[in-house]
Amino acid sequence: MKISVDEEKCCGAGQCVVIAPEVFDQRDEDGIVVLLDSEPAPDRHEAVRESAGVCPAAAIHLGENA
Ligand code: SF4
Repeated sequence: MKISVDEEKCCGAGQCVVIAPEVFDQRDEDGIVVLLDSEPAPDRHEAVRESAGVCPAAAIHLGENA
């Protein structure tokens, strides 16, 4: 799994950070998503998929057999 995030789309809702705090963080200044781990271990894939699914801005993209 390879993750990318679109900072332009992110509205700082923070859903991804709540669901997968090992993979996503938010900038202190404006709450925009920060990708901590673009290729997370398999045991985190489910949480990452859930994050992408609930992201209100559709700013999380999954690639490579995600
Ligand atoms: S859930 Fe989406 S909009 Fe919210 S912080 Fe994460 S990437 Fe940004």
